[in-house]
Amino acid sequence: MFDFKKNGLCYIKGGRYPHCHALFIDDHLRVLIDPACDDRVLKRLASEKPIDVIINSHCHEDHFLNNYLFPEAELWVHEKEAPMFRSIETLLDSWLDDDEKTGPKGDETLQFLINDVHFKEREPDRLLLDRELISFGDTQMQVLHTPGHSPGHLSFFFPNEKVLYTADLDLVEAGPYYGDKASDIDEMIHSLERLLEIKAETYLSAHGKYGIYAGDPKYILRYIDVIYQRENRLLDALTQKPSTLEEIADFGIIHGKKKISGAWDLSLSEKKMMAKHLVRLIRKGAVQQEGDRYIAC
Ligand SMILES: [Zn+2]
Repeated sequence: MFDFKKNGLCYIKGGRYPHCHALFIDDHLRVLIDPACDDRVLKRLASEKPIDVIINSHCHEDHFLNNYLFPEAELWVHEKEAPMFRSIETLLDSWLDDDEKTGPKGDETLQFLINDVHFKEREPDRLLLDRELISFGDTQMQVLHTPGHSPGHLSFFFPNEKVLYTADLDLVEAGPYYGDKASDIDEMIHSLERLLEIKAETYLSAHGKYGIYAGDPKYILRYIDVIYQRENRLLDALTQKPSTLEEIADFGIIHGKKKISGAWDLSLSEKKMMAKHLVRLIRKGAVQQEGDRYIAC
């Protein structure tokens, strides 16, 4: 049933989007972190004994997918994610630009949230603080605020088990996602550098074929490096030819020439992440904008 277990800390691999790998803490308090794995596993756990607490690392559908199965459990999140859990309107605002929100994309996303991924507005019962140490019984958990993917993204360190759960800083070879309106590349790099300092024997992440890694900082460094590689390729391309954002998205620096992956529109994600890199490069003085074209300085 579990793909990794150490003391009361259990890891359940969850499959592909809109699922993720989940954590179950089997202790005096029974806790699920990011319960978006197979619902049959979650129902079985709940049938043995009620789940007391749901913790979401952040407010994305592939993490809260099965929260709805546990209306009696408390919900714990970081304060910067709480407004999205409280209001579907705020959640939409955090993902979509104003013109997208008022167009067909807005309606489509709203229907998706309500019908496909069971989003239910609710008031979180506890707001988790950076560095706080929480005891579930024998299992201790330190909360780490690691923004960048989303503003209130959390990672969790279990000192007794020496396990670090990195959530959506998921360490996959393809590299990180920072395409939401509220994503921030600089914050993400800072968060990853912070995780480098944690002495863990095992890293567990929320996505990816593997999900389970030896606690070797090389995996975090490789992940950070993908960000810099993307940026260098963008800068090289702009040095050769000033380009519009549409043209830059067509270069396929992040996703290659593949435009769709399952439910994901990769061309949209490519465009949004490249736009974040452009903002960063302009701020660093490496790129300037003339009309709708971006030029390397
Ligand atoms: Zn996410």
